[in-house]
Amino acid sequence: MEDATQHPLQSCPQCGCADLFIRKDFPQKLGLLIVVTAGITFLVLAANPHTFYLGAWALVAAVLVDALLYCFVPKITICYRCRAEFRGIPINPTHEGFELSIGEKYRNG
Ligand SMILES: [Zn+2]
Repeated sequence: MEDATQHPLQSCPQCGCADLFIRKDFPQKLGLLIVVTAGITFLVLAANPHTFYLGAWALVAAVLVDALLYCFVPKITICYRCRAEFRGIPINPTHEGFELSIGEKYRNG
């Protein structure tokens, strides 16, 4: 059996839809965890004037970690119609990020 997963997708293998978009596979929960942790750290440290600057640095660190994470997360291809996510395949250069106008087309189907 030929391994078709190494070719960029032209259409969705699950539903045959030709409209696909590219998104960063950002771990939402991890991103949220970093923000929440930094927020709590800031509140605790900022309560004391002596450690206020440390709290500010915690926020800066959180932003940097998030940005760094964003740089390293892989891109994935997603189907507009069935919302199937395809990881580990080459990105088709003709595909772009999510477009609302195309998304509306498949919203109820
Ligand atoms: Zn599909």
